[in-house]
Amino acid sequence: MTEKRLVLPSVTRDVVTRHGFQFKKSLGQNFLIDGNILDKIVEAAELDEGAGALEIGPGIGTLTQELCEAAQQVVAVEKDGRLLGVLKETLSEYGNIHIEHNDVLEADLPAIFEKWFHGLEVSVVANLPYYVTTPIVMKLLEEKLPLRNIVVMVQREVAERMAAKPGGKDYGTLSIAVQYWTEPEIVTRVPESAFMPAPNVESSVIKLKVRKEPAVQVKDDKLFFHLVKACFAQRRKTILNNLQANLQPKRDKETILAALETAGVNPTRRGETLSLEEYALLADALV
Ligand code: SAM
Repeated sequence: MTEKRLVLPSVTRDVVTRHGFQFKKSLGQNFLIDGNILDKIVEAAELDEGAGALEIGPGIGTLTQELCEAAQQVVAVEKDGRLLGVLKETLSEYGNIHIEHNDVLEADLPAIFEKWFHGLEVSVVANLPYYVTTPIVMKLLEEKLPLRNIVVMVQREVAERMAAKPGGKDYGTLSIAVQYWTEPEIVTRVPESAFMPAPNVESSVIKLKVRKEPAVQVKDDKLFFHLVKACFAQRRKTILNNLQANLQPKRDKETILAALETAGVNPTRRGETLSLEEYALLADALV
């Protein structure tokens, strides 16, 4: 490892100043300057010599540096072209890093996997730009990439929604999508002071252990997710009302009531009280 860990606040400040770098709030640029948190992120990813690491948003390379030490191959996707020169300098001693200059939401991830991660067990490890957390996580899950786990820093409130169990205000479409594909576990809370500049929200690191098979088996997973979305369209409405108003393609009241009966779900319940298993039964009853 280079003598200077970029995570040291004095080193980050020096790199940023020397390159005349101005932080862009619109790109979620809050760089990590807390070594203990950095260690927890890398440890949670459980990388070894046979591992690949995909980082989203390397910034000045703080986390990337540690990933290059721990994994066989690292790919980091960075949208901000102003950081490419910085990364070239800060990561110059590593031969196992490929920087992809792109918006991760536009990137062809299967092609990246094919080219760079052939035969490796891949983890996504990142301090995510908060303005696009949900689309990024959904893209990683929906593209069904061969991932081992996803260890990411997100807004604390978002981490809590991902890990929420039925019955509370945090449980919703994000909880169900994340828990369908993965087993979430909150690793640690992170204070604002761990970043430069400090964001005005609290953060958490969450680990999503990707399941080999989805948590529940359904006949049609598109229908399952349409159904979930419809049931949460208006949180205070009953399932019956939400399904009548929002299910696509539309079903008549009798069909919906019959499906609810088959699934053993009372029509007056609200979407936030149903488990994944109950959503699965209901989806299959509507096929
Ligand atoms: N990994 C660095 C760290 O921990 O210090 C930086 C993390 S910072 C929270 C988020 C990073 O994501 C920034 O480098 C930002 O430029 C980059 N970014 C923002 N939007 C992006 C996008 N759509 N695709 C790829 N990178 C993005």
